[in-house]
Amino acid sequence: MLGELTYSTYIAVLLLASLSVLTTLLGVTLAIYVGKNERAIAIGIGFSAGIMLLISFFELIPEAIDKTNIAITITACLLGMLIVAFLHWLIPHTHLIEEKGAFNRTALKSAYLVAFGLILHDVPEGFAMANSYVASPSLGILVALAIAIHNIPEEFAMAVPIVTVKKKRFLYMAAFLSGLAEPLGAIIGLVAVHFNPIFNPLFMAFAAGAMIFVSVHELLPMARRYRKIHLFILGMIVSVFVYALLNAVIPT
Ligand SMILES: [Zn+2]
Repeated sequence: MLGELTYSTYIAVLLLASLSVLTTLLGVTLAIYVGKNERAIAIGIGFSAGIMLLISFFELIPEAIDKTNIAITITACLLGMLIVAFLHWLIPHTHLIEEKGAFNRTALKSAYLVAFGLILHDVPEGFAMANSYVASPSLGILVALAIAIHNIPEEFAMAVPIVTVKKKRFLYMAAFLSGLAEPLGAIIGLVAVHFNPIFNPLFMAFAAGAMIFVSVHELLPMARRYRKIHLFILGMIVSVFVYALLNAVIPT
């Protein structure tokens, strides 16, 4: 049963979402100090994609099916995929790796485009987190922690290619702004569920669709470009263990 959306719900969700801002900054710090370690990047991308897929398929979608049915859940999920696909097409952004080697020419342009790319990526995660918390606080905590952890390698992988051409201050500013996309997504999620509490399970399926799209569309090609698919898979396997551990610590 859905709880009332009280102030404490808002505060808890925003606190959980701000964890992601911290881990985003941590990822950039890693990018600056670890630098271009292609093996680490490939593992990190696999880990990030793995966590997003695990949350979608094992938490958000089953929760939505439980509260509605398979047909409704799949429809909402597809809608999430389509809307994010449409936004990806509408808003020019970059998948960093495509510009590998051409940074000096397009550095400034790409930096702005990267920000859009990350926002498209982080908003659905915040949205998912908020709706999970509304469905059940322990589910919300699990989703929030998993997303916060996955942001570290993800931001690391995204930031490494621009580390060489950008000043540290710029990198931290960009990371902070893109990290804010997570609480922004959470606020959008809270407002949406506040006005349409009955849609809570659909919003979860919708966010799952968006996250599945992002994992497949953004992260998989990134791993392929580094030509280290086996390390990408290793990262995914690690994500399963971390996810299992989180599940053991936070019973939902
Ligand atoms: Zn992500």
